Amino acid sequence: MLPVSGTAPPPTGQHSLTDQANFDLNDSDMQPARVQVLLPLPLKGVLDYRLPANEPVPPPGTLVQVPLSGRSAVGVVWDESADRGGKQLPLEKLKPIEKILPLPLFADDLRKFIDWVATYTLSSPGAVLRMALSSPAALAEVPMRTHYIKCDVPEGLRLTAARQSVLDAVDDTPATGAQLAERAGVSAAVVSGLAKAGALQAIEISVDQPFGLPDATIEGPLLSEEQETASQAIRDCVWEGGFKPFLLDGITGSGKTEVYFEGLIEALKEDDTQVLVLVPEIALTSQWLTRFETRFGTRPVVWHSDIGIAARRRAWRSVASGQARVVVGARSALFLPFKKLAFITVDEEHDPSFKQEEGVLYHARDMAIVRAKLAACPIVLASATPSLETLVNADSGKYEKLVLRERFGAAVLPAMKAIDLRVSAPGAGQWLAPKLVSAMQETITNGEQVMLFLNRRGYAPLTLCRTCGHRIECPSCSTWLVEHRFRKELQCHQCGFVRPSPDACPECQTEDSLVACGPGVERLFEEVSNQFEGARIAVMTSDTMTNPRLTAEMVGQIADGELDIVIGTQIVTKGYHFPNLTLVGVIDADLGLRGGDLRAGERTYQQLVQVAGRAGRADKPGTVYLQTYEPEHPVVRALLSGDGETFMQAEQEARQRYSMPPYGQLTSIILSGVDIAAVVDQGRLLATSAPNIEGVAFMGPAPAPLSRVRGMHRMRLLVHGQKRGGLQPIVREWVTRTRQIKGVKIKIDIDPYSFL
Ligand code: ADP
Ligand code: ZN
Repeated sequence: MLPVSGTAPPPTGQHSLTDQANFDLNDSDMQPARVQVLLPLPLKGVLDYRLPANEPVPPPGTLVQVPLSGRSAVGVVWDESADRGGKQLPLEKLKPIEKILPLPLFADDLRKFIDWVATYTLSSPGAVLRMALSSPAALAEVPMRTHYIKCDVPEGLRLTAARQSVLDAVDDTPATGAQLAERAGVSAAVVSGLAKAGALQAIEISVDQPFGLPDATIEGPLLSEEQETASQAIRDCVWEGGFKPFLLDGITGSGKTEVYFEGLIEALKEDDTQVLVLVPEIALTSQWLTRFETRFGTRPVVWHSDIGIAARRRAWRSVASGQARVVVGARSALFLPFKKLAFITVDEEHDPSFKQEEGVLYHARDMAIVRAKLAACPIVLASATPSLETLVNADSGKYEKLVLRERFGAAVLPAMKAIDLRVSAPGAGQWLAPKLVSAMQETITNGEQVMLFLNRRGYAPLTLCRTCGHRIECPSCSTWLVEHRFRKELQCHQCGFVRPSPDACPECQTEDSLVACGPGVERLFEEVSNQFEGARIAVMTSDTMTNPRLTAEMVGQIADGELDIVIGTQIVTKGYHFPNLTLVGVIDADLGLRGGDLRAGERTYQQLVQVAGRAGRADKPGTVYLQTYEPEHPVVRALLSGDGETFMQAEQEARQRYSMPPYGQLTSIILSGVDIAAVVDQGRLLATSAPNIEGVAFMGPAPAPLSRVRGMHRMRLLVHGQKRGGLQPIVREWVTRTRQIKGVKIKIDIDPYSFL
């Protein structure tokens, strides 16, 4: 039977301030009290409010409604020591708290986490709190819906055939009017008529139903020896409790998921514990969700930025109440108000999308470690290609390293081969080398599947006029417009600007003079369609997989063998398991190496290992072809030899030699504004006021590689510290001391991953 009120607290309307059962009345001195409240706004610190006399002081973590410049806002009672950001007003000048919300308290560890993230990222604590209060609907009352159950029919009530069928359809399980009407095959009016006549008992049930409880007793697969060893280590620590970071370093297809599932099961043995699994892009985890459901008999709670308002409210409240036991989510799930976190996993921990590049700039993997530390629980970072940061932590003994060296079952890692494009070039205007084409032919003839990887959306990255040389650019960014031929549009991948594909050059007006330069996945699709008539081909990009349902459908089709060739961007590298996929072709293995930021080599290596890892995951062995102009490049050599360890070792030594992260520390300052002169001036002001500190170098300003985005001009400065950590107070002091020019936005990026 369904719980009658779901997870909803009683309605708030008529409640007085003291309704919270958590308060200890004896604790307060019954004087009007000063209460510090943190609001989800970019303010310097907490604000003071007053509690009327005789009201007990709400403990830190209580959600309250307070007046704020003529309206009401929801905030959280914050800890005594918090920074007020200004001077203290006398008590009688303070505004009173309006209402205490009947919601569970924000736990100690969450409040500490919010303060910690704010200090680390040089953000205001309110901006961080905003991420934790990210479901405004969850803070209001949850709507109720009328349900009906059986009751005694009043004597003498006239029963038509329609009414009788409703009475036959109702039982002790609450059902809505619509459900009953459907069951009985009558109109909704018949049901409401019966209810009015007193022949049905109405009860109000929260529209948010509780989530299913994962069943940790369902028998899992038999683990291999190395899987068992790794999972035993994790289980032991979960059982003991306390902070403990692991690196689960297992090759693609080695069964890392099965291993961390064991930690999750151990954590669920207590009744009130919660588990968080962070994944890079939740929209792409349809296979993972199915797998979870098979293993635990129910779906986990899913959290990401694209779930609807109602789903968000239901998830947020269930996490806050402790009812939600397992949450799988994108990086923002870190800020959910868990009551009692007992285990965290960060899957594909190397993935660049864990870095949030807007608002509060944080790296979810790094912050997950902090979250685990404050919650005093074990955390597993899982990857086949761990980040250098994590490897260094494992080597130094900060993290315990668990290794899976073999693919599960009969599967072996695919054979890697290079195609030297200088020798074996594709035909003019083509992108597939003859060798790759024949391998594809053979694979399809054998009834197996091919995946082609090219990390470029659209048809071509540049449209050029043959007559005047004009390159079609975005009107508000310093970028070329990318042709999307499927949609007959040109699009800016920075700001999203679109225009219809023109027939004539916008500059010189010559007709039929525009040429597409370079390949994108759509162009590859065209070539493959011409070469492989009758083959079933799909393009997997964020343009074709616009929602989780479409994604799940396409993934299902591939897994079921309904497609022969899959062409995709980085989306296809994300952990999918396609048993019949045996050939992977990397169209441009050198693509990620251009541009050369700090992690270009590392990232390319990780991405290509991941895409290669899609091949030969079941009983048929796989082959991977890398098309490259630089077969001698260390990244390509590492991929061919399978010796990633040596490659990462060399990367590590280089970083150490130049005191680059994780040995040293970087911080980017990004200046942007409409007025280029003001942006330049602000850069100059910062440069001249940079302090002189040993071991810290201030570089720039220089125009950003993306020198204009959405009409804003951009400049960058970079701070380099020889040592790891400790830059924040220096940067904070420097930036606050420098005069700020109106109209120039200063963004501080601690531990930057993007240098654009
Ligand atoms: P990884 O995440 O390391 O790439 P997965 O966890 O996806 O690997 O496992 C790869 C495949 O092997 C999956 O289909 C998984 O169900 C299967 N598998 C892994 N371990 C076992 C096991 N112990 N018993 C049965 N199947 C397993
Ligand atoms: Zn643009």
